Amino acid sequence: MPDQHPSAAPAAPAAASGTNARPLGTDGGAAGRGAPRQDWTLEEALALFALPFPLLMHQAQQVHLAWHNARQIQMSTLLSIKTGACPEDCAYCPQSVRYETGVASEPLLPLATVVERARAAQAAGATRFCMGAAFRSPKRRDLEQIGAMVRAVRALGLETCVTAGMLEPGQADELKAAGLDYYNHNLDTSAEFYGQIITTRTYQDRLATLKSVREAGLKVCCGGIIGMGETLRDRAQLLVTLAQLPEHPQSVPINQLVRVPGTPLAAGPPVDPFDFIRTIAVARIMLPRAQVRLSAGRESMSDELQALAFLAGANSIFYGEKLLTTGNPDVLRDQALLQRLGMEPEQRLQ
Ligand code: SF4
Repeated sequence: MPDQHPSAAPAAPAAASGTNARPLGTDGGAAGRGAPRQDWTLEEALALFALPFPLLMHQAQQVHLAWHNARQIQMSTLLSIKTGACPEDCAYCPQSVRYETGVASEPLLPLATVVERARAAQAAGATRFCMGAAFRSPKRRDLEQIGAMVRAVRALGLETCVTAGMLEPGQADELKAAGLDYYNHNLDTSAEFYGQIITTRTYQDRLATLKSVREAGLKVCCGGIIGMGETLRDRAQLLVTLAQLPEHPQSVPINQLVRVPGTPLAAGPPVDPFDFIRTIAVARIMLPRAQVRLSAGRESMSDELQALAFLAGANSIFYGEKLLTTGNPDVLRDQALLQRLGMEPEQRLQ
């Protein structure tokens, strides 16, 4: 963390001192919540990152308690419905066809398999079922099959989320018509750093898909990855970009890079756990209404670190044994952790 801190941190926002009656992250208003701010600046975001850890956590807690039931965690289960052989070159991803990672490619799963896995996730306590397909962008037939999966999973009473690469406006409309709730499309990092991680598409491409998704009336799931060699400034800029979107994403996954052998990012220093928690806390403050999801990398986190992430405002997890192609804490460990913390899965569908 220290090497990434701005040497002369800008002054913290007034609310950081605890003297401002307006909850940080909002424009004030009734019930102490108001509307989420969309005018965050990079300087303000950096000032939050530069706060002493206890003060940052205090601010994040205030925002979290004003907007959410801190006792509850939203549980999503992620299934890879089409694995590997992706033509993109995302440097962190074992599913890119460009890297030797040992991930076997699989075509789109049969509908019956997806429904069976969704039923199992629901029985284990998940309320949202996320379907991930390793595509640059889905073709017409792919989209028809994914639409059928969405309809079937929605019919079970689960929320649905899909991630399948870039979408044109008409494709987003098609998924909305099938009953899709969320579309996931991560910005990953700042626009400035993006080109060092992915060269086969641009940041602007990502923003265009997010626009199509938003305009189709789908909820947006969009976040980033910590630990790819980005600076603290890149992390702050990512959060500023998310906060300045026409509407804040409803779901914001914060991933800790899982270093997969064979990918260009296989080697590198580990993320300082406190830096990771700081990123969650700043996301919570700047995106007060969003579900902030503790996502990839959770398998390697201690129970204590996960509890700290919940204190910082994370209120959603991926739940189940696998996260696309990498591991995830098993269901029993998650259930035991929530019980030890006096927390519970969120039952309500959003
Ligand atoms: S992150 Fe997605 S788009 Fe990038 S290589 Fe992996 S599957 Fe393809």
